[in-house]
Amino acid sequence: MITQWMMADIEQLRDQGLYRRLRVMSSPQGREVIVDGKRALNFCSNNYLGLADDPHIVDAAAGAMREYGFGAGASRLVSGHMPPHQELEADIAKLKSASSCLVFNSGYAANCGIIPALYGRRDIIFSDKLNHASIVDGAMLSRAEFKRYPHADMQALEEGLKKEGPYRRRLIVTDSVFSMDGDRAPLGEIVALARRYDAAVMVDEAHGFGVLGPHGGGLIEELDLGKHIDIQMGTLSKAAGCAGGYVCGAEALKMSLVNYARSFIYTTAMPPALAVAARCAVRMIHDAHYGGQRRRTLKENADYVRQGLKAMGWDTMHSSTCIIPILIKDPGAAMAMSDQLLEKGIFIQAIRPPTVPKDSARLRITVMATHTRSELDHLLSSMKSLG
Ligand SMILES: *Cc1c(COP(=O)(O)O)cnc(C)c1O
Repeated sequence: MITQWMMADIEQLRDQGLYRRLRVMSSPQGREVIVDGKRALNFCSNNYLGLADDPHIVDAAAGAMREYGFGAGASRLVSGHMPPHQELEADIAKLKSASSCLVFNSGYAANCGIIPALYGRRDIIFSDKLNHASIVDGAMLSRAEFKRYPHADMQALEEGLKKEGPYRRRLIVTDSVFSMDGDRAPLGEIVALARRYDAAVMVDEAHGFGVLGPHGGGLIEELDLGKHIDIQMGTLSKAAGCAGGYVCGAEALKMSLVNYARSFIYTTAMPPALAVAARCAVRMIHDAHYGGQRRRTLKENADYVRQGLKAMGWDTMHSSTCIIPILIKDPGAAMAMSDQLLEKGIFIQAIRPPTVPKDSARLRITVMATHTRSELDHLLSSMKSLG
């Protein structure tokens, strides 16, 4: 019976405080949610700008469903490629000032498709230790040699790049904003090393897109490095409030991926209504008035919470964005705190290994542009009562 070894394994997870279960959200993904039947302020959503239930986006999707139906019916290369896909890609490329854009069905699918499409057995990939699991999985699928350097350690990266080897191509890949730590990658230094040692650079902007840069183009735009980053990947599932992944770069990159990325080729196209909704979100992000205002409010909210937590003595690690970890270390303790906070009407998930390194379990707070000052104060006073 397979249930026997499964249950034995699950018991072990429970003993270690590592067992995970699903919670039901019976409301839109707003600042306030109903979680397992209880009303709570939401501090664990990636819906940073509040676009996930924005009425403009909902209307755009509803209109598109009436025009195109729901399912795309086939993969993009067979008969599923429609004007909404084309227009979404054009608008992302415009926002990113890139020559081309290709959309995947998720950020996960993008990373699992891009890396093996371009790199293989004769190549080497340098990857930050804290990069997202989808980058690790993409690199594994590629069968290239996979070297992980300690988080943001440029000396270690340079040592690795210096070593001669029989490699055909070299790639450095990094998150721009680290999803569990909320700090920024040293992109300028990575670009300089890549030039010196003839490597390509791939950046995952899952948590930068929509949030950073004057037009929401991400950390790459904030640092004005667009011309130097060969593969600019991101998602439409976080700040854009929709679902999907994108990659921007040279026209040749798009042509290669259309021909070789298996997670693009062997899957049904994104539903056209989703592409229309995502395009609407991208345009709102790009808009200086709408997107710019939300980005400013988001930054103010995040700075307010981070400063408040630090003043109480909590360890917010190296966070400099709207992702604010509170380091607890022990997974059981982090879980207990998450439960206590929910009792007080504050929803914050405990993040435990293997999502984060051993002994670094944490509460991971994500702030949204739509949170009000009094909601942020409620969060801070609840954290105070725990401390
Ligand atoms: C969330 C995330 C992804 C996956 O994106 P989805 O669109 O949710 O599949 C990829 N990379 C990073 C860094 C992420 O945080």
